Amino acid sequence: MPEAQILAIVANLDEQRRLQQSMEPQGYVVLFAEDGLAGLALARETTPVLVLLDTNLPGFDGYATVTRLCSLAHLRAVPIVALSADTSPDANERALIAGCAGTIGLPLDDKQLPQLVAAYLGGQREQVENPTVAAAQLRSYAQRLAAQLEHQARELNDTYVERQDLDRLKGQFLSTLSHELRTPLTVMMGYLELFERGILGSLSDTQREVVTVMRHNGTTLAHQLNNLLNFQELRGRAMKFQAIHPGEALQPVVALMQARASAEGLSLEVQAGGETAILADAEAFGQLIRELLDNALKFTEAGGQVRLSFQDEPSRLILRVADTGQGIAQEHLQKIFLPFYRVETPHVFVQPGAGLGLAIAHHIVEAHGGQLTVRSQPGQGSVFTVVLPRSSAAL
Ligand code: ADP
Repeated sequence: MPEAQILAIVANLDEQRRLQQSMEPQGYVVLFAEDGLAGLALARETTPVLVLLDTNLPGFDGYATVTRLCSLAHLRAVPIVALSADTSPDANERALIAGCAGTIGLPLDDKQLPQLVAAYLGGQREQVENPTVAAAQLRSYAQRLAAQLEHQARELNDTYVERQDLDRLKGQFLSTLSHELRTPLTVMMGYLELFERGILGSLSDTQREVVTVMRHNGTTLAHQLNNLLNFQELRGRAMKFQAIHPGEALQPVVALMQARASAEGLSLEVQAGGETAILADAEAFGQLIRELLDNALKFTEAGGQVRLSFQDEPSRLILRVADTGQGIAQEHLQKIFLPFYRVETPHVFVQPGAGLGLAIAHHIVEAHGGQLTVRSQPGQGSVFTVVLPRSSAAL
């Protein structure tokens, strides 16, 4: 039979040691958590027979932790006992109101502890007998909780505002940087072209090869900078909604991608559909599909297949870009939509990119009131699904 577990939410190391020394010889396994949130996480994963909790915990409040523990269905019959240096009736009532079965005084007395624990395991439960006292304690507990909630909401709000400021600064920095880099790069590319075309004098074969490599890398860099600028610009502008026919609007993008697919030995199949109009920003809509098809082609090896399909529904349009490529491991699936996130897999050839394509796609879909999701498995390909509402009601 597995040993019974006691969950001890206690930050003090001396108390932890005392608990272990007195309860383990009694045949219990003591699981420790050092704060309320860690305690709640551990409580969800385990089924202890008893919870001991220091009411004076760092971070998330001890009493709030007790109330939350009481609401977990699998702990409903499990006694939660407060540990507190304050053993006054008032402090004990506060613990009972939060949901505790009683209080054990701190510092722990390791000789008495097994007996006290046995009493709670045997069914001992204290209650606030006087209804007037209980009501007053409940009111003051609710007020304390509300005050804490306000404090935490303020902190969250401040952090959010700070994050937004930082985000704005980051955006400005990236735009300035890309502008500043693009100008000299354009000049350098112009000169390299003059060299390549022999206008600045004839080149040896080796020199021509070097210039070609420099031009190629310069083009990649310019492409990355454009992506960065484009991302910033897109985030800063409002969508221009108009009625478009998706299938028709996507034809230029599809033609471009089809030419690329056949040059790379891939097949790109576009299924019929997308005939019913939707309200969208035509340019952003084209870019969304370009980003998804670009990835599908980029992460699928020659011989593979990419398919774009439409599902016209009365209230929404569902678009899918499916590929038979390298796929994405589970742990990356949510993160790939974050700006600059790229999956780096050892032994897999790293494709060029700045990690912005899906962040751009995600932003566009959200700005249309839709959802972008992915299903994928390594080695089995990926399916990106875009759901867009047809009307402006969701915007
Ligand atoms: P980039 O393509 O520039 O790296 P994205 O934001 O478009 O940036 O994509 C982020 C990451 O998600 C990629 O680096 C890649 O690892 C993964 N990914 C995106 N689309 C696919 C796909 N169709 N197949 C496999 N991996 C993909």
